[in-house]
Amino acid sequence: MKKNLNQKLIYLVEYYNLANANLLLSATPLKRNLKTKKIVFTGTKLQKLEKLKKNIQIIKNCELKKSATNLVFSDGNANAKIMIIGEGPGANEDLEGKPFVGRAGKLLDKMLASIQLDRSKVYISNVVNYRPPLNRRPTDEEILRYCPYLLKHIEIINPKILFLLGSTALNAIIGSEEIISKARGKWLQKEIGVIKPWIIASFHPAFLMRQPEKKKQAWIDLKMIREKIKNFN
Ligand code: URA
Repeated sequence: MKKNLNQKLIYLVEYYNLANANLLLSATPLKRNLKTKKIVFTGTKLQKLEKLKKNIQIIKNCELKKSATNLVFSDGNANAKIMIIGEGPGANEDLEGKPFVGRAGKLLDKMLASIQLDRSKVYISNVVNYRPPLNRRPTDEEILRYCPYLLKHIEIINPKILFLLGSTALNAIIGSEEIISKARGKWLQKEIGVIKPWIIASFHPAFLMRQPEKKKQAWIDLKMIREKIKNFN
């Protein structure tokens, strides 16, 4: 089953490359080896972010975009040392055009506060930038389509620490076939374009709302981040 999924992703990448669908997609990480596309954005960090946002805004033939109200690009401090990646916008995020503003966002804020962080000290985005209808999980095709933008986004922000919330973010970035409960709470470093941030995954706040007994483990992961960040202050 997992093998099929990887094979499917490889076929999709080959299809997009063959179809020369769009410059961004053509450099989608083959076999998820985290190569960012060759597009070079010039200018300041904020100018690069603006260009990336415009590139996402002109995505064509995307079902997510068609059904969404707003592009949900990011929130927080673009110079933060920690970048947080969720799954995709929900209803509130879609309306406000900002990630993690609904119930899961409130819990995320509490989690951050527990390690003396807030949105002025982190930068937040999602694997996909448009709301999947009915809050369903983004499909593999959708994840694959947005992956080059996500990787570029991370490269532009250049965080010291990348905090992945839930299995969608874990799989998009690490390509890990491990489930989140096994992969969480472990530091690893991975090249993303020209950067090599420290990466840690934990449970998604929406999952923690459904399974509050898992908060104990999430707390362990948060404390690991609190310790790690000291190296970069
Ligand atoms: N869940 C996510 O993964 N991202 C959001 O922005 C909101 C809820």
